[in-house]
Amino acid sequence: MIPAAFAYRRAESVAEAIELLAEYGDEAKLLAGGHSLLPIMKFRLAAPSVVIDLGGVGGLDYIRADGDEIAIGALTRHVDLETSAELGAAVPLLRHAASVVGDCQIRHRGTIGGSVAHGDPAADLPSALMALRGTVVVEGPSGRREIPIDDFYLGFLETALGPDEVLVEVRVPRRGDRPWGFQKFRRRSIDWAIVGVAYQSEDGGGGIGLVNMGPTTLRAATAEAALRGAAAPDDVAQLADADADPIGDASATPEYRRHLARVLLARALAGGAST
Ligand SMILES: Cc1cc2nc3c(=O)[nH]c(=O)nc-3n(C[C@H](O)[C@H](O)[C@H](O)COP(=O)(O)OP(=O)(O)OC[C@H]3O[C@@H](n4cnc5c(N)ncnc54)[C@H](O)[C@@H]3O)c2cc1C
Repeated sequence: MIPAAFAYRRAESVAEAIELLAEYGDEAKLLAGGHSLLPIMKFRLAAPSVVIDLGGVGGLDYIRADGDEIAIGALTRHVDLETSAELGAAVPLLRHAASVVGDCQIRHRGTIGGSVAHGDPAADLPSALMALRGTVVVEGPSGRREIPIDDFYLGFLETALGPDEVLVEVRVPRRGDRPWGFQKFRRRSIDWAIVGVAYQSEDGGGGIGLVNMGPTTLRAATAEAALRGAAAPDDVAQLADADADPIGDASATPEYRRHLARVLLARALAGGAST
């Protein structure tokens, strides 16, 4: 449980972090809350020779209104999402998803940028971004670019972030007064989801994101199409797993995960938020 030796560098700005990434290339990993990076380093699943700490970068922890969207800085911690009245009013789905991440200690260290950048299909916040059709803003040597969440996840722990890019912001549309649901099935209240479903109503249909139903966070595109076609909620829920490819592990067989996705989507469509 002791990570391989690494050099530690602390960036004081996004520009400095980008310079350090350019200098060290594939050898380097950014450190935000450390609650995904450090465990995989301890298990020796990652062995960066340089860790670039973003802890000194100011100005990346914010939740602010920007036109029809809410912009959230990458270093905003889960607890700040969970306790934000502004986020609760504008995007209650995202606030709720943050409130069910791990336990209190994890929510006080983990950041939205780290959660999204890590690319773990079992993570909660990316599924909410999928349901909300959010956008990820990244910055690199040639400036900023915006990546729709649908284009961000490429494979297991693999994203569209370039090796010299920093995730700086997440943007989601305001959806305050519309129905939403978030269902997370787990054995103990502090666990990762065995399966999770995020649902957000929108004009003419809704967005549906799936947790732990494949190698990446997934969109339930077939169920969304049925929603747009005004199918009955129970019929939509039966399509929850149509685009999924869940694994079997010690927690659940693939068949059980498919069953859970259908049950959880029915509950989410009814406006249910699990605790
Ligand atoms: C016991 C335990 C239980 C947990 N349970 C849950 C759970 O139930 N649900 C859930 O969703 N999560 C859970 N987590 C994960 C937790 O939410 C993490 O904090 C989060 O996934 C990663 O955020 P972080 O800020 O800690 O990132 P870090 O661990 O610091 O970084 C994670 C990865 O993202 C990269 N990265 C970080 N920030 C940036 C950035 N700004 N730009 C580019 N790359 C970046 C890092 O280089 C690294 O590869 C759990 C973690 C633990 C240890």
